[in-house]
Amino acid sequence: MIVPEDQAKRLVARCGLQTPPGRVAQMPDEAAAIAHELGGVSVVKALIPVGGRGKAGGVKVCGSVEAVRDAARALLGHELLGHPVTRVLVEKAMPIAQEIYAGVVANSATGMIDLMVSFSGGVEIESTAQHDRKAILRMAVEPGSVLPVHRVYSWLRQANVERVDLAALADVLVKLYRASADLDAILLEINPLAIIQDGSLVLLDCKLEVDDNGLIRQPGLAELYQASLSPRERRARELGVSFVPLDGDIGVIASGAGLGMATLDLLKQKGLSPADFLDTGGGISEPLVKGALELIMEPQEVRAAIINLYGGINRMLEASKGIVAALKNIRGNRPIVIKILGNQQEEAWAMLEREPNVHVIRVVQTEAAVAKLAELVK
Ligand code: GDP
Ligand code: MN
Repeated sequence: MIVPEDQAKRLVARCGLQTPPGRVAQMPDEAAAIAHELGGVSVVKALIPVGGRGKAGGVKVCGSVEAVRDAARALLGHELLGHPVTRVLVEKAMPIAQEIYAGVVANSATGMIDLMVSFSGGVEIESTAQHDRKAILRMAVEPGSVLPVHRVYSWLRQANVERVDLAALADVLVKLYRASADLDAILLEINPLAIIQDGSLVLLDCKLEVDDNGLIRQPGLAELYQASLSPRERRARELGVSFVPLDGDIGVIASGAGLGMATLDLLKQKGLSPADFLDTGGGISEPLVKGALELIMEPQEVRAAIINLYGGINRMLEASKGIVAALKNIRGNRPIVIKILGNQQEEAWAMLEREPNVHVIRVVQTEAAVAKLAELVK
């Protein structure tokens, strides 16, 4: 999950890092009131979950309360970089002397935590990296290890920079490293980390992406995560199934990610495009399968579905009862191809074959089920 900038700043500020004072507004007048409290000169930022807002006009430095109201009016209710802007962050404008890039990234290839710094911050780091690889300093840290400030300080000293207090920067980086560990962050990126005119280091932007699996340990974030889910994703969570929204028109239910991936691949080979994919996991029960099928067939754009279950010792008659119960609530004559294997498969097949729109495949090969589906929808 990407944590919205305002929340991300609040979380890192708790770790002793400095962020500009400010608050979120949803209305132009509210933005103006915040700017008034902050003393006028403010920055209005569109809260959308992507970077590059500066260049796209989503960050406006305003010299007066009136200018803040206008900037908020220009952003709120409009779309920016493909995202609707419903909230803006109004912050006290900082007198920037220099912009630095600082990042703490979980490197999945090496299993290490990469600390990154560039003294040409502010711009997109990808373009800096392309033009000049040496412009970015990198240090790999063993996850979970203690990172002493002096180690970061001596690493920073390889950079030939003047007018930067490297000891203060090392202190900020260690705090960022700790914050990222505490928050189960996959990515914590500060761009820019500003050196302001009095010499202090302030986090002007904060991009925080956290591991969804760690959310349970983060009381503040768990709620945020719930709120970030679509109603269908939330229902999938309540059912205890994993749900991957895709944008095609064939619904897919499988028991297990491996079987699911194989099914998706075969569909694509036949020129069919998967709508949503739902993985029931191993615990197949009547209510779970009923809920899963209802969820997958809910959008009317889904014109057919494939159910691919391998139950092993699970009673597949339960699964078929769940399917029959769901079919009572599903609208439209949309074909559903079902391949069910496991304990009581014969009874399950017999029950399902009585249903209209259902096509039971009695063989092991998923190819056969996909071929049947292709024939039905073409
Ligand atoms: P991004 O483009 O989506 O990454 O948005 P940022 O929050 O990083 O803002 C983009 C740019 O706006 C920064 O690189 C700064 O140059 C500028 N900016 C952001 N906050 C302030 C501020 O408090 N004061 C001033 N003067 N400029 C700011
Ligand atoms: Mn930025």
